[in-house]
Amino acid sequence: MTEKKHIVIIGAGPGGLCAGMLLSRRGFNVTILDKNSEVGGRNRPIRLGEFVFDTGPTFLLMKHVLDEMFELCGRNSADYLDFIKLDPMYRLVFSDRAVQVFSDRDKMREELKQNFPEGSAGYDSYLQRESVRFKTLYPCIKRDYSSLKAFFSLDLLKALPNLALNHSVFSNLGKYFREEKMRLVFSFQSKYLGMSPWDCPALFTMLSYLEHEYGIYHVRGGLNKIAAAMAKVISEQGGVIHTDTTVKSLIIENKVVKGVRLQDGREIAADEVIVNADFAHAMTNLVKANELKQYTPEKLKKLDYSCSTFMLYLGLNSRYDLPHHSIVFAEDYHTNISNIFHNKTLSTDFSFYVQNACVSDETLAPAGKSALYVLVPMPNNDSGLDWETVCANMREQVLNTLEQRLGLSAIRQHIECEKIITPQDWETQEHVFKGATFNLSHKFSQLLYWRPHNRFQELEQCYLVGGGTHPGSGLPTIYESAHISAKLICQKYGVKFGLEL
Ligand SMILES: Cc1cc2nc3c(=O)[nH]c(=O)nc-3n(C[C@H](O)[C@H](O)[C@H](O)COP(=O)(O)OP(=O)(O)OC[C@H]3O[C@@H](n4cnc5c(N)ncnc54)[C@H](O)[C@@H]3O)c2cc1C
Repeated sequence: MTEKKHIVIIGAGPGGLCAGMLLSRRGFNVTILDKNSEVGGRNRPIRLGEFVFDTGPTFLLMKHVLDEMFELCGRNSADYLDFIKLDPMYRLVFSDRAVQVFSDRDKMREELKQNFPEGSAGYDSYLQRESVRFKTLYPCIKRDYSSLKAFFSLDLLKALPNLALNHSVFSNLGKYFREEKMRLVFSFQSKYLGMSPWDCPALFTMLSYLEHEYGIYHVRGGLNKIAAAMAKVISEQGGVIHTDTTVKSLIIENKVVKGVRLQDGREIAADEVIVNADFAHAMTNLVKANELKQYTPEKLKKLDYSCSTFMLYLGLNSRYDLPHHSIVFAEDYHTNISNIFHNKTLSTDFSFYVQNACVSDETLAPAGKSALYVLVPMPNNDSGLDWETVCANMREQVLNTLEQRLGLSAIRQHIECEKIITPQDWETQEHVFKGATFNLSHKFSQLLYWRPHNRFQELEQCYLVGGGTHPGSGLPTIYESAHISAKLICQKYGVKFGLEL
């Protein structure tokens, strides 16, 4: 590049930070703007007194994808982050049994034999088949779908039979497992995408395979340390991050994005703008309604979105004998799922997830105390629920359920501090459209070419990264979105992308 091109990135979430890291390494002049006072977006820390919580992500899957992003910056992730592999990975709590899930194959076979009459018979064929699905599909996931030509590629045509288009994750698992609860062990992961296993496209059956194959990691200090490490790399490479800086709108001339206008009226010119802010929120709020055709506010409202979450972060003055990750299933799981995704109503019998990371990471709470993270999947804000009215009652129900289902007796007496995030807060405070915490739904008609493109199809000099674009929600795929967009920008300016830099 004869002259350094200026890349402005809206949002210092995982997608924006990863893109900033890759582009600043390749000689671009990178400026990242975020409305929050700390980097990370939904991956930033929450600090309550002496307690630290991750706001959102707590499972690091496919760690090698994160490692690759650091390698592409000539760095080793282990020099920045202290990874802790978890095995058992998590505990699943059903009304009649609890199952530990191991990435160690022998231990997992044993656990299945002990808990299910059908034993571990389907486990090996499941892993074998999903390994084939993953190996053929992942190269397609890593590619750009900014044009139809890219869509009709040989690798995607070869992968077509692995899409199992007429199946959901749950029905697909019937090939390996008979019992419903056995299938839930390998399908509840659809919730990572904010979807029901009965609706989630069968290609995502590979989600649970990825856990068993590559394991699950925690990072000492919380997964928020990943965002902080990326910000450090960006500053080492000369990039700049401005926190407490809200973008009000994109500056657009004849469909070409020329820069951004800030809330305080300042304007920043850019050669390319990357949008990391939640896609549907950004297109509704940062762009005038008449600038877009495919993604007008009316059309965005009609798309399908993930579920939301009710979050309770508890600083407790005692330690609990709970594993690092517990997933508790509603006694009537099917009804709970229907309420979240179809009826958009609350359930009294609900599923939830609890992280008690202090058992593997002493940095998150003072000695003898615990930082408990509770996530309850909820309908997104299409429910019309008024969370200011519903919130207090929901808190009581969650605390009661923690006592009843996990035996955390008299938990209220141990609460030193707490924070709640409701679906309404996700929308109003975190700028997440409809409070759909896992972005646009991952139904097949909103994937690949049909998801908003990494090189945004409606505006020139505008790229997308994050959970609302291709490949989708979840840290590894979000890093891949940054990888794809950064590569497209490098190609445009004839800049080399590989490891050899
Ligand atoms: C509760 C929860 C649990 C999750 N658990 C996991 C998990 O265990 N594992 C996993 O892999 N994934 C998980 N995810 C999904 C996903 O990894 C995270 O949501 C991730 O943080 C999304 O990253 P992102 O880059 O899309 O954007 P975000 O994290 O949403 O970042 C976008 C950034 O844009 C900023 N922004 C928005 N508007 C503006 C504006 N106008 N001006 C300036 N800045 C703006 C925001 O402040 C924010 O910092 C979870 C998500 C949630 C919500």
